[in-house]
Amino acid sequence: MPSLSIRRNDTVKVLTGADRGKTGRVLRAIPDKGTVLVEHVRVVKKTVSSKTGQRTKGGIAEHESPISVSNVALVCPTCGVAKVGFKAEGSSRLRVCKKCGSELPTKK
Ligand SMILES: [Zn+2]
Repeated sequence: MPSLSIRRNDTVKVLTGADRGKTGRVLRAIPDKGTVLVEHVRVVKKTVSSKTGQRTKGGIAEHESPISVSNVALVCPTCGVAKVGFKAEGSSRLRVCKKCGSELPTKK
């Protein structure tokens, strides 16, 4: 099973694209595709038309689109943009910041 170094509720910084430089919270990680959904990043506006027989009102719906994990960097609470390393502790793997060595806990 593939795993990502970036998990849900992490804070990440966008490295490329129109939203470059933005930071946001990871709403969802999709390991199968290697993508993440980041709050307020890559927001797509969709015009929703009201059709007869549908109860929804016409208007504009906004939602985030997934971006590749290679386009984002995890933000370390201690030192900023960081590379993620792993450290084995017992049977589990801890994520650590490669720059300052501090542990990057997975937020629930
Ligand atoms: Zn760090």
